[in-house]
Parts: sequence; C-alpha cells; structure tokens
Amino acid sequence: MATIIDGKKTSSEIKDELKEQVEQLKEKNIEVCLCVIQVGSDPASAIYVNNKKKACEYIGIKSLSYELPEDTTQEHLLELIDKLNKQDDVHGILVQLPIPKHIDEDRIIQAISPNKDVDGFHPQSVGRLSIGQKGFVSCTPAGIVQLLKRYNISMEGKECVIVGRSNIVGKPMAMLMLRENATVTICHSRTKNLAEVTKRADILIVAIGKAKFIKNEHVKEGAVVIDVGMHRNENNKLCGDVDYDDVIDKVSAITPVPGGVGPMTIAMLMYNCVESMVPATK
Ligand code: NAP
Repeated sequence: MATIIDGKKTSSEIKDELKEQVEQLKEKNIEVCLCVIQVGSDPASAIYVNNKKKACEYIGIKSLSYELPEDTTQEHLLELIDKLNKQDDVHGILVQLPIPKHIDEDRIIQAISPNKDVDGFHPQSVGRLSIGQKGFVSCTPAGIVQLLKRYNISMEGKECVIVGRSNIVGKPMAMLMLRENATVTICHSRTKNLAEVTKRADILIVAIGKAKFIKNEHVKEGAVVIDVGMHRNENNKLCGDVDYDDVIDKVSAITPVPGGVGPMTIAMLMYNCVESMVPATK
C-alpha cells in the first residue's frame, strides 16, 4: 500500500510551528510583516493573494496589501518596491505573478531587496542556493523537501529525476536535491526516451504542466512520486501532472492533487517570512 503524502496536514503542522515562533517574537516586540503587491485583477491571482493574507492572519504575521490597477506603470511599481525595501518594519515583499505584459517581470524581481525576497526568485537568492549559501529558497521546491523530510524519506544517495526545468520549480528543486545529496537528473521537453530516464528514479518529481502526463510506464516499482502539477480535468476536478490512478499500485509513496504539494507552497512562504527574523529551525 502506497503512503499518501498529506501536504494539507504537514502544512498545518508547519503553520502551527510558525505561529508559536511569531508569538515568541511578539513577546520581544518584534512583528513580522509581509507586503503583498498585486497588479491588475486576474481572478486566480486574487485567490492566491487572499490565501496568503489568510495564512498571515492565522500565523500572526502582519500583512500589508497593495492592490494596484492594471495600468500601473513600471516606474510606479519600482518606486513602491524601493520604498518598501527601505522600510525597516517590512520584512518580506512579494509581487504576485504574472504581472501585466507592459511591465518587465525580470526588472521587478530584481528590484526587490534580496533580504526581503521571500519568494526566492531574485538572482541573488538563486545564486546563493546554487553555491550552497543561506538565502531564501523558492517556496514550492522548499515545500517538497519538507514533505520528504517529514515523511522520513531519505534523499541521500537516491536517484532523483525531476521532469521540468522552470526557474520557480525544476531548477531550484534540482539544487535542493543536490544539497540533500541525491543524484539528480533534470528532464525537459527535448529529453529523449523520457520513460527510460524517469524509470531510473527512486524519487520522481514532476513539474511539466500537462495533466496526467506521467503514466505507469514512466515509474519504477516502489518509487516515491511528487506531483507538482495543478489542472482541472474534464469534470472540473483538480488533477496533477501524474496519472494518479495509473501509478498508485506501483509507487511506495505519492503526493495527491489536491492536498499534496499545493498547500506546502504557502506554508513555505510563511516560513520564509518568519525565517527572515529568526534562525532556521529545520
Ligand atoms: P513551466 O514553466 O511551464 O515548465 C514546464 C516544464 O516542463 C518545462 O521545463 C518544459 O520543458 C517541461 N516539459 C513540457 N513538456 C514536457 C514533456 N513532454 N516532457 C518533458 N518535459 C516537458 O511550468 P512550472 O511553472 O514549473 O509548473 C509546472 C506545473 O506545476 C504546472 O501545472 C503548474 O500549475 C504547477 N505548479 C504548482 C505549484 C504549486 O504550488 N502546487 C507551484 C508552481 C507550479 P522545456 O523547458 O524544454 O520547455
């Protein structure tokens, strides 16, 4: 029987641990503060922003929200980020992506101070991760490492295959798995004989963005499968990049969709906010 890795439960545990740390900080008159900036009114972004605000409220992190109109200029957004960078009582700054096309996303990411870059997207955060220095780590891959650790799934010496090489999931995931001493292979759309490569994996991490793409034939008997994908199927139900029903009898552990990786992303964002104030505990 496969272990179902419960991201909802694990993320709740992390949020409760953070709540305690935030209370301790408050006793020392330190209030953790996250600024969330949203440009435009994309409905999916509005939901993500709202969930982040709710998580802040639960943990006791102060959240400041800036909801800017769609026609906000790049200059105005850069000015706001500059102002928040200089404010000592602001510890984390997050610009909800995607932003409108007339604004250069890279410019915005680079404008956020690396000391407040709780999304872990700044080139300095990425560079620190690559050379093993302490810094903010992209939340989804960080959440996956937490899931594996908290389910006592050792990464050391394991064959880890990551499908997808995006800047926010695949690449930082590879760096983190290296840090955990796994042997890492990254696959992408030009990889030849994908199933041959993925079948080598003791730990298979899938972030392709294609519903139910990974089937039984891609998975080794007894593998741990982490599904990052998030889609709506023909019945409007959430599903992942992995065909769960097709692989469930073959794997030793798997993250479901929903309730696997998804809830961990916000928990790790909260972790990054608190970590900017207190030394990492895990
Ligand atoms: P992305 O930027 O679209 O990257 C997809 C990656 O998959 C690319 O590297 C692409 O290769 C690779 N790929 C596409 N087709 C492939 C194929 N047939 N064989 C092998 N590789 C293939 O996606 P992302 O931002 O990493 O997100 C991936 C999925 O995770 C999406 O479903 C997204 O919604 C979800 N997601 C979930 C969370 C969460 O919190 N749960 C967070 C982030 C993302 P190339 O580089 O060669 O194009």
